[in-house]
Amino acid sequence: MTRIASHRGGTLEFGDSTPQGFAATAAMALEEVEFDLHPTADGAIVVHHDPTLDATTDMTGAIADLTLAEVKAATIRYGAGSHPMRLEELCALYAGSEVNFRCEIKPGVDGLPYQGFVAPVIATLERHSMLKRTIFSSFLVASMDELAQVSSRPRLWLVSPSVLRQLGPDAVVETAVSHGIPEIGVHVDTADAALMAKVQAAGLDFGCWAAHSRAQITKALDLGVKVFTTDRPTLAIAVRAEHRGEASV
Ligand code: FE
Repeated sequence: MTRIASHRGGTLEFGDSTPQGFAATAAMALEEVEFDLHPTADGAIVVHHDPTLDATTDMTGAIADLTLAEVKAATIRYGAGSHPMRLEELCALYAGSEVNFRCEIKPGVDGLPYQGFVAPVIATLERHSMLKRTIFSSFLVASMDELAQVSSRPRLWLVSPSVLRQLGPDAVVETAVSHGIPEIGVHVDTADAALMAKVQAAGLDFGCWAAHSRAQITKALDLGVKVFTTDRPTLAIAVRAEHRGEASV
């Protein structure tokens, strides 16, 4: 069965990386919750998509330049007055949930990996008994490599449309294989059966991301990808149930 990952806690249904979205996702009949992490200036780990607060909260600034208290003072837009969560809070929220973690390691404002960030993320997840329930993702091959050095947990490389276009499918597969990356995910609009077959022929798992519309979700289900992320988890659950019903007739 194709797995569903609620992207940033279901952005189009609950706001971007909101406590409400993560709480709602924890109770949903899906497999994964996707979230993104950034470090604060004082060493905390915050669940937020962008490296800055500018676009999604009432404050500005790079998370890595702010203290946890400053980040916590930000109010998330369309977040019903809520504030960005710490990774520890997310762990607590999912301790009793059947939904597992899909943890994206984000770069900083400069597009480069945060120095020494992966190890404390792994340690925090381990401390809260969530590491064994986590698969990691990143757009950066350097972050894939860093993850492999400190953990044997599964990793998936997010391949952007521009990287797929520039490298081409063969070089994407070659890069994944040479870095020991077991799974890749592409934007759903760039996914097709030929690409999936090529990836799978190399022994890699294939998934896609950004399946937000009914048509995109249906495409992912028709292809039979391993997993897709969606900003509309409630819709995705309904479409998958319909799809499975049709498949069993
Ligand atoms: Fe993400």
